[in-house]
Amino acid sequence: MVTRYDAQPCPYCGHTLDASLGFEADMEPRAGDVSICAGCRGFLVWDWIETPATATEPEDAELRQRKLSPREFNDLPGDTRGELLRAQAKLEEIERNVRKPS
Ligand SMILES: [Zn+2]
Repeated sequence: MVTRYDAQPCPYCGHTLDASLGFEADMEPRAGDVSICAGCRGFLVWDWIETPATATEPEDAELRQRKLSPREFNDLPGDTRGELLRAQAKLEEIERNVRKPS
């Protein structure tokens, strides 16, 4: 299941993130959901990021992906950690296959 959302750059590598492969079907991203960047395989977490007030817009918060810290990773439930590590291994495998000379 692929969920699409407003494009945002990966906080690690700048890779454009605009869709994620959900671990659960048909889920809108929510704060605390974890994902992984297809560009650099960095672990990400959805969080409410405060945006300061500008001349035209009041102070606001929007749901964005930020880096998942190693501490936060360790605090995740074991099955969620397993899903992330499997997704990371899968991406590495795909990359190896792409690079493999035919
Ligand atoms: Zn990235």
